[in-house]
Amino acid sequence: MTLYPPSSCCSNVDCLHTKELKKAEQRQVVIYTLASSACPAWSVHLYCPDCCTNYHNNFKVCDGTRTYYQGSPAYLQVGEC
Ligand SMILES: [Zn+2]
Repeated sequence: MTLYPPSSCCSNVDCLHTKELKKAEQRQVVIYTLASSACPAWSVHLYCPDCCTNYHNNFKVCDGTRTYYQGSPAYLQVGEC
């Protein structure tokens, strides 16, 4: 299983939007589920070359500020190392 940000387009209103999001990083993660217990997976982060916003599965980081997306995500990041 691979987790991606919810959109492949930059949502920053101050962005020029001249370039597509780039794949910034792919990390191994563990997804804890009720049905299948713990499952190994990958989480892909996307990066906007125009405004330097980094898009994760359930939040984005712009100028050092983490902003969670609206609504309830299917998967919630609860820790990192
Ligand atoms: Zn952007």
